[in-house]
Amino acid sequence: MKIYDTVIVGAGVTGLTAAWRLTQAGQDVLVLEARDRTGGRLRTEDHNGSEFEIGGQWVSPDQEALIGLVAELGLETYSRYRSGESLYVDRSGAARRFTGEDLPVEEQTAKEIDRIIGVIDELAELMDPDRPWEHPQAAALDRVSFAQWLDAQTDDQEARDNIALYLGPAMLTKPIWSFSALTAVLMSASAGSFTHLVDADFILDKRVVGGLASVPSALAERLGDKVRLSSDVTHVAWSDSGAVVTVDGEQVGATSVVLALPPTHVRRIRIDPELPAEHRHAREHQSFGLVIKVQAEYDTPFWRSGGLSGTGFGPWQLVHEVYDNTPHPTGPGAATGTIVGFVSDVNADEVGRLSDDERRARILASLAAYFGEEALTPRTYVESDWQHQELTGGAYATSFDVGSLTRYGAKLHEPVGPIRFGSSDIAGHGFQHVDGAVRIGTRLAEQILGHSST
Ligand code: FAD
Repeated sequence: MKIYDTVIVGAGVTGLTAAWRLTQAGQDVLVLEARDRTGGRLRTEDHNGSEFEIGGQWVSPDQEALIGLVAELGLETYSRYRSGESLYVDRSGAARRFTGEDLPVEEQTAKEIDRIIGVIDELAELMDPDRPWEHPQAAALDRVSFAQWLDAQTDDQEARDNIALYLGPAMLTKPIWSFSALTAVLMSASAGSFTHLVDADFILDKRVVGGLASVPSALAERLGDKVRLSSDVTHVAWSDSGAVVTVDGEQVGATSVVLALPPTHVRRIRIDPELPAEHRHAREHQSFGLVIKVQAEYDTPFWRSGGLSGTGFGPWQLVHEVYDNTPHPTGPGAATGTIVGFVSDVNADEVGRLSDDERRARILASLAAYFGEEALTPRTYVESDWQHQELTGGAYATSFDVGSLTRYGAKLHEPVGPIRFGSSDIAGHGFQHVDGAVRIGTRLAEQILGHSST
C-alpha cells in the first residue's frame, strides 16, 4: 500500500488549494474527488454555444486570498456590467427605476433601512469572523432567529423585508426564521460589514475571464496526476500515527488526511474509530441553504438600450434579485445578453414541486416584472440544479441552525487524530464564498506543515 504525506478528499477550491500549497512545500499528495470533474460548486457549462457559470462566479474587493490566487494562476478578471439605472419591484408589482444604493422607498422607510444597516455594522465591527462565538453578545444573538431580532428592530414592514432579503434569500438562502441573528452578523462580518453586503457593486464586483471555475481547473492542471477523479471515498480508518483511506475497494495510506467537504458531507464517509460525539452533533446541526440560480440569454441585452443596468431587487418577487450576466466580450455568448436571477428558500421549495415547464413559466414571468414582456422569450434558459446533486445538495453553502454557532462552531475546526476538516462553509473571512475556501485550504496546509496551530 502506497503511503502519501497527505490524502485530500474533495477537489473543490478548498481541497485543491491545500493540495497545491502542500505540493509546493515538497509533500507527496493525493487528491481524491468523487465526481468526474474538479471544482465542486464551481462549474462553467456551454449551452446553445454560450458560456454559463452554474455555481459561484463573483469576486469582491475584500476577497484578498482569492484575488491573490487568481493573479498567481495568471487568470484575468473583468467588471460586472452595471451602467444605467437599477430596478426595484415594489409590493404592488410595479418596477421603479433608481440610481445609486438607496432604494426608491418612502423617506421614513429609507431612514429605517439605513439605521438598521448601521446597527448590524456595529455588531459586525465587534466580531472576529474566525471566532464568532467570542462576540460580546454571542449568547444572546445566537438564541434568537434573525426574524425575531429584526421584528424587534422596527415596525416598518418594508424596511424589514428589504433587510431580510440581503441576509436571507440573497446570502444564507434560508428562511430568516431558521438561522440566528449571530449567523447574520457573521455573514456581514465575513464580508467586512453589512454595508458591503447590501452594495451589489462591492459584493458582486468582478468575474474571472472564462469563469471562476478556471481557478480549480488551473490548480488541478498544476497538480496533474496527483488528482484522481471518480474516486468516491467511503471509509477512513485512523490511528494517531496515520490513516488508511478506502476508495473503490483500493486502500491508500496517509500521514495526514484532509476532508475538504461541506460539513454535511463528512457523514457520508465511514470513519473508524468513529468521530467523537460532539463532532458528529456539530455537523448534524449544519444544513445547506437552497437557491435556484436562473440564467436567461436573449438575442440582445435589450435592457441596456432602455437605460437599465440589469440590476434589480424585488423582496416580494419569486426572483428576488437580478443582474446583467453577459460574459466577457471575448467569451462565447458575449454578442447576446444574459440576465441572472435567484429564487431562494421557500420560493425554491414551491417552484421545485412544479413541472419544468411550469417552473420556467413562473420564473420568466417574474423576470418580466423587472424587464417587461421581452423577458418572456429567451433564446436559452438555464437553471442550476445543485439541490439534485448528492455531492452538493443545495446552494450556496451550509450554515448552523439557531443556537448552534456558539454551541458547536469551534468544533468544526478541530482535527481528530490525523484527520482535518474544512470548506468555505467554516471560513471566517469569505464565509460561504470561494475566498473562504482559499483561506481554509491555505490554513489546513499550514497546519499540516506545522506553520500554524489555529
Ligand atoms: P465544494 O466546492 O463543495 O467541494 C467539495 C468537493 O468534495 C466536491 O467536488 C465534491 O464532489 C467532493 N466530495 C464530496 N464527498 C466526497 C467523497 N466522499 N469523496 C471524494 N470527494 C467528495 N461563492 C463566491 O465566492 N461567489 C459567488 O458568486 C458564489 N455564487 C454561488 C452560486 C451557487 C449557485 C453556488 C452553489 C455557490 C456559490 N458560491 C459563490 C459559493 C462557492 O461556490 C463555494 O463556497 C465554494 O466553491 C466551496 O468550495 P469548497 O471546496 O469548500 O467545497
